[in-house]
Amino acid sequence: MLKVVKFGGSSLASGESFEKVKKIVNADPSRSIVVVSAPGKRFSGDNKVTDLLYICQAHIKYNASFDDIFDKIGERYREICHHCKLKQDIDAELEDIKSQFGKKTSVDYIVSRGEYLNAKLMAEYLGYTFVDSASWLVFNYNGKVNFEKSYENLARIYEVTPKIVLPGFYGAMPDGSIKVFSRGGSDITGAIAAAAVNADTYENWTDVSGIMTADPRIVENPRPIENVTFAELRELSYMGAEVLHEETVFPVRQKNIPLYIKNTNDMNARGTLIMESFDEDESEKQTHFITGISGKKNYSIFTIAKSRMNDEPGYIRKTLEIFENFGVAIEHIPSSIDSFSVVVSSQLVEKCMHDIISRITEELKPDNIKITNEISLIAIVGRKLAFNIGIAGKIFTALGENNINIRMIEQGADEINIIIGVDDKDFKKAIRVLYNLSEVEK
Ligand code: ADP
Ligand code: ASP
Ligand code: MG
Repeated sequence: MLKVVKFGGSSLASGESFEKVKKIVNADPSRSIVVVSAPGKRFSGDNKVTDLLYICQAHIKYNASFDDIFDKIGERYREICHHCKLKQDIDAELEDIKSQFGKKTSVDYIVSRGEYLNAKLMAEYLGYTFVDSASWLVFNYNGKVNFEKSYENLARIYEVTPKIVLPGFYGAMPDGSIKVFSRGGSDITGAIAAAAVNADTYENWTDVSGIMTADPRIVENPRPIENVTFAELRELSYMGAEVLHEETVFPVRQKNIPLYIKNTNDMNARGTLIMESFDEDESEKQTHFITGISGKKNYSIFTIAKSRMNDEPGYIRKTLEIFENFGVAIEHIPSSIDSFSVVVSSQLVEKCMHDIISRITEELKPDNIKITNEISLIAIVGRKLAFNIGIAGKIFTALGENNINIRMIEQGADEINIIIGVDDKDFKKAIRVLYNLSEVEK
């Protein structure tokens, strides 16, 4: 049995949290590969070390002194060393990194040092071997991960070093320079490591007991989801459930490795299990039709009407091409016989709104074109939705009873999601109403 375990910044913010991590790792001898983030926030209003490193870099870029910020960063690691009674010469490490900052001003190198140092400390604390991710996780020249080579590299290292700590978030370009993922990217490092060694499980430890049915900042005490499929997770995270970095899924899904989200502060809580599919026994246990709800604000809907549109082949395609020419990605295209709507992010369309309208008017001569702004999209996701006849009606009723106007509704072709559009002002209320519906709809 082999488990790759990743701890996020919130699980590694202080010496005290290091202790919890050690307890978790030691509780199961199969937790042999540990991936760590940089120290995160200890309390609300605190700084993440990665944020401080970005500020450091900005100072270096403008030739301003970065001593004060660097001291703050140093303090975080010194506290961990002191609390965990580590023998490492942390001052020498910090000094070494600081002198590099004077020479190498690449943003990626600078911000990667948060995970680098944290991994070194964690390795000593656990009695594991530190392996620099620049030595195995490699990118191609185009900036995409070279999966094949990274898998090969780590598998070879693991053969001779069975207990390792890896820094998350970064790897190396073909010329050896450091490259980081986008923010939150340590999740991806963990997934790549799990795929490289064909782990039995990838455990992602964070500060919540799994993915919640709805955003905990909107719904009070939402229920954690027990089982979710990769496809459902993709829908939920695309629409704003930001527990895992979006790109985490690919490597583990490809190798069919089960992924758990678990809580460092409550190690015995079951957490959420994410798999390709669940057998009937497991599915039976999931009594709720709705797996989860997530949503995002600030969309615009273009509704284009033209009678006998059907007689003009290519009408919709030509309209979409206009959006494409302006580089505006399209989220949804709900349609009826004589009209259709194009839903796009308001932020993307803001600057070219008038140009798009005039081109559609000139080239396609619609009877009418209407723009609705300040729309929120909410995804109601569930692999069992297709089996619940009339769920769309229940959604309409529940929202209607709460005076929430539905501006759009669309069901995905694979029937695992229903997307509804409501006014931004109704966003939170709608999420709460749908959450209550998900609790009773069994
Ligand atoms: P880490 O530091 O472990 O990487 P993150 O901050 O990236 O943790 O992710 C965990 C956070 O995601 C939670 O603290 C929570 O505030 C937020 N979150 C947003 N949506 C959800 C959801 N549907 N379920 C659980 N957590 C969510
Ligand atoms: N430390 C990085 C960040 O704050 C990466 C991560 O935590 O996953 O974005
Ligand atoms: Mg994260």
